[in-house]
Amino acid sequence: MPSGLPLLVIATRNAHKTQEIREMIGDRFEVRDANDFPGLPAVEETGTTFLENATLKAVAISREVAGKVLSDDSGLEVDALGGAPGVWSSSYGGEEGNHPKNNSRLLAEMAGKQDRAARFRCTMVLAEGGEVLADFSGTVEGRILEAPYGAGGFGYDPLFAPEGHEKSFAELGAEVKNALSHRGRALAKVVAWLESAG
Ligand code: IMP
Repeated sequence: MPSGLPLLVIATRNAHKTQEIREMIGDRFEVRDANDFPGLPAVEETGTTFLENATLKAVAISREVAGKVLSDDSGLEVDALGGAPGVWSSSYGGEEGNHPKNNSRLLAEMAGKQDRAARFRCTMVLAEGGEVLADFSGTVEGRILEAPYGAGGFGYDPLFAPEGHEKSFAELGAEVKNALSHRGRALAKVVAWLESAG
């Protein structure tokens, strides 16, 4: 049923990302994603930066869907691994979107490493009619834990403790994660931009 709120289509099939975005701005926007529009093309993420991939997704989907489209390209950078997994975060374990395999590889690569510093990065691109309107980014600093903790969130959340916390994102829960996260920080800039653009 139409909510009367302005529509914002998220250029993703990752229901976890959409869920987090809806939790954060669902009272101001009718948040939909690519799963709500059957027949949309699969967008290949051939870029080597978060911005390139976010741009590819937002531009491609906004050619197919009326109104404003927002993409999210995000990932984890680990200092002791030279910034890996970075833009390849979702397939780090060898299989696209397999979070248990990604986490197992991350733990194996980090075995014996003293420097556990890491950050999540998120780049969002807003597009309409195949044209980029603006881009936004957010980061959250933290560290990689020695083992997975907690069942909330998604992806690397059980292995990542944000700065100032002992617990993982997966243990801290949605409200704390959304207030601190790379995605929450980027999204706050998107909302400010949309509100100032009227
Ligand atoms: P993308 O869909 O190409 O942007 O890949 C994002 C990948 O980065 C996800 O599949 C996760 O592996 C990781 N990632 C991004 N954001 C988060 C987060 O908030 N928590 C945990 N993992 C994340």
